[in-house]
Amino acid sequence: QIQKPKLILDNGLRLDGRRPDELRPMKMEVGVLKNADGSAIVEVGNTKILAAVYGPREMHPRHLALPNRAVLRVRYHMTPFSTDERKNPAPSRREIELSKVIREALEAQILVEQFPRTSIDVFMEVLQADAGTRLASLMAASLAVVDAGIPVRDLIAAVAVGKADGVVVLDLNEPEDMWGEADMPVAMMPSIGQINLLQLNGNMTPEEFRQGMELAMKGINIIYNLEKETLKNKYAELKEE
Ligand code: UDP
Repeated sequence: QIQKPKLILDNGLRLDGRRPDELRPMKMEVGVLKNADGSAIVEVGNTKILAAVYGPREMHPRHLALPNRAVLRVRYHMTPFSTDERKNPAPSRREIELSKVIREALEAQILVEQFPRTSIDVFMEVLQADAGTRLASLMAASLAVVDAGIPVRDLIAAVAVGKADGVVVLDLNEPEDMWGEADMPVAMMPSIGQINLLQLNGNMTPEEFRQGMELAMKGINIIYNLEKETLKNKYAELKEE
């Protein structure tokens, strides 16, 4: 067992050189797969996720179809090479739970009532894991859904906040996720002010929670603009063609 390193250095910066309120570098791209209806890649620091969406399409097996809405089927999966130690490719309890959490967050985004008797299938592959994979996966899925032309209420922007060495920090890296005192992933649809996902692991005082939410909102707004930019660029490209 490695000893906990100092997470906030004497100069007030974090181990990766960021200020407490700074995001990691991000990259996003949609339409990256030829054979899926929609797809996206999202990179947050060293975390890298590929998402693919199929549907809405006729539900199989048929008896699982719902008369009033589409059924969402969601799989979050870590590739064996995504982590420091080889990850067993069989789905773990954690991956099954994250698939459910991500499904519920996506269900609030997609206008499922418009597609009765169909299924929408969403696959996320973690290519590299370096903290924040559930949120990067959710954003990749949400962009892939939009790329598939499926109507949504809003885009989903997401970031984790937490506490490291007593300091409230934005967008946790892996050491902060592992050794920090708190980890709180937050996902939102910013234009309609709705929260899709909020989890809290660890301890924060009410004041730290308030500070954390404020920091999360700040990060979410920046990420939301990047998502809109990503989609706009794609459509501009299509228009030129
Ligand atoms: N992780 C890992 N192996 C695993 C599960 C997680 O190395 O089997 C690492 C990975 O970097 C992940 C981080 O631990 O991003 C934090 O995992 P957590 O369960 O908090 O979810 P996440 O922050 O990725 O949403």
